[in-house]
Amino acid sequence: MTEKYDAIIVGAGIIGACVGFELAKRGKKVINIDKLPESGMGSTAASCAIIRLHYSTPDGVAMAREGYFYWLDWNKYLGVVDPSGMVRYINTGCLVIKTEKNKYLKEVMASLDELHVIYQELDPAGIQKLVPLADIRQYGPPTLSDDPRFGQPTGETIAGAIYVPESGLITDPKQSTHNVQVAGENVGGAYRFNTKVVDVLKKEGRCAGVRLADGSEILAPVVINVAGPHSFQINQIAGVVDGMNIKTRPLRQEVCHVPAPEGFDYNNLGTIISDGDIGCYSRPEVGNHVLIGSEDPPCDTLEYLDDPDVYNQDFSQQWTTQVMREAQRLKNLPIPGKRQGVVDLYDASDDWIPIYDKSDLPGFYMAIGTSGNQYKNAPVVGVLMAELIEACESGHDHDQDPVRFTMQYTRRECDIGFFSRRREINPNSSFSVIG
Ligand SMILES: Cc1cc2nc3c(=O)[nH]c(=O)nc-3n(C[C@H](O)[C@H](O)[C@H](O)COP(=O)(O)OP(=O)(O)OC[C@H]3O[C@@H](n4cnc5c(N)ncnc54)[C@H](O)[C@@H]3O)c2cc1C
Repeated sequence: MTEKYDAIIVGAGIIGACVGFELAKRGKKVINIDKLPESGMGSTAASCAIIRLHYSTPDGVAMAREGYFYWLDWNKYLGVVDPSGMVRYINTGCLVIKTEKNKYLKEVMASLDELHVIYQELDPAGIQKLVPLADIRQYGPPTLSDDPRFGQPTGETIAGAIYVPESGLITDPKQSTHNVQVAGENVGGAYRFNTKVVDVLKKEGRCAGVRLADGSEILAPVVINVAGPHSFQINQIAGVVDGMNIKTRPLRQEVCHVPAPEGFDYNNLGTIISDGDIGCYSRPEVGNHVLIGSEDPPCDTLEYLDDPDVYNQDFSQQWTTQVMREAQRLKNLPIPGKRQGVVDLYDASDDWIPIYDKSDLPGFYMAIGTSGNQYKNAPVVGVLMAELIEACESGHDHDQDPVRFTMQYTRRECDIGFFSRRREINPNSSFSVIG
């Protein structure tokens, strides 16, 4: 007997799990299929799980603001307790450094104002007070570590910063996905692991299900591509790439974990820092460590991949460069000989803004191109995709008249057309992980 569902979700990362949960809550018979052995083992497991509100467009801030409230309200959102443990939101606040490149945060502040997100503007002395470890000299624009200018101040002080107190992190991104899986199963959703989708079935001009690596088929009138860094492959087998103006590609990333400067309780006193002046972001990491990621400054060569299953999983010179960059800002930051952290992939879109959309193949949808910055938005994306799918499957022409819905917490209207596969590249994007 061939299995039949209302919807198949390809992928069981945080976004796939939230999409499945939302559809199951709405009475749909859904299944999440993943080639890995457990939920959240893909790029979600590598996520820094930073929940911050600053984005360069009001729509970006609105999604993050909405997502923030889901994380605060996590247990109520899920409606069930995961016996293997619930994740927690830890409020750390977030300091964002002003630079010429980020236009001294003028657009970010305007976007935060529009969403009534509170923040403080700090001068260099204010930054020093908030982060006593901070070296407040200007070092940017960032350079490579073998550049003679590297590590040399370019100005007496940085231009200033904003501090957004409502920002933080989630204790364990993989476990958060398991929490959503348990919630989805609680409302009738199904999960299948160690199962690779190799083809998208078509019948009478629309999507009809998927074929698995063992040759079996699962039928459904709706298939949703939430395959993370493998998203372009699923779009290729579905034959929908030509109808897209914005494309996605896997992008390799290194994240460093180093001990905090000696004598400083970084776990309790540290904050998230988004620092375009040195080209890094950082946050407290368990064990009194500092986690350091890259904001991908223009001097770095970005490592896009043709095959997301074949890439160097060892740390490279990039790891050392990132730690040395962070050491410009945090006084006495150790630069250990032993490299620790994670190497993983973003699913990067052309303008670093995700694609949450239908496709030219009726019944085939995508929640992809999350560009290193959509973990925080996963619960909102679940609702967004459910709204989109319900409208389109009822005959609504989303390409002509984009679906809108009112977000639950912020009560702001979300125009799903903003995330269209057919959009022109958004010039207001930061074209980086900042989104
Ligand atoms: C290093 C790093 C740091 C990040 N930091 C942050 C952060 O601090 N804050 C933030 O908001 N965001 C962050 N992100 C981004 C965020 O983690 C991702 O946007 C999010 O986890 C993507 O979830 P997903 O479910 O779309 O993808 P994934 O978690 O990658 O899940 C996709 C799943 O699809 C499965 N799959 C793929 N192909 C197939 C197939 N053919 N058949 C079956 N299954 C398949 C994979 O096995 C995988 O499990 C970061 C990402 C990375 C990599």
